[in-house]
Amino acid sequence: MSEVSCSRCGSTAAGLDSAPIPGAEGQAILTRTCVACWQEWLRAQVILINEHRMSPADPEHYAKLMAEMQTFLNLDAG
Ligand SMILES: [Zn+2]
Repeated sequence: MSEVSCSRCGSTAAGLDSAPIPGAEGQAILTRTCVACWQEWLRAQVILINEHRMSPADPEHYAKLMAEMQTFLNLDAG
């Protein structure tokens, strides 16, 4: 496990062992999100899915979730 400079909380902390999702988003999380913030997102995601009755298997919903995730984890800022 390596340390990352987390773009959400701003601290240098332990990152994930591997990309939690496929693609560029997963790589961004691996290099720019600490474990604590990732776990916070997982909880927030469950709430979003329940509130909006989203299905991650639906490509449209998945894209929406990815956008929400990038905002939540502050991955948009570059
Ligand atoms: Zn963090």
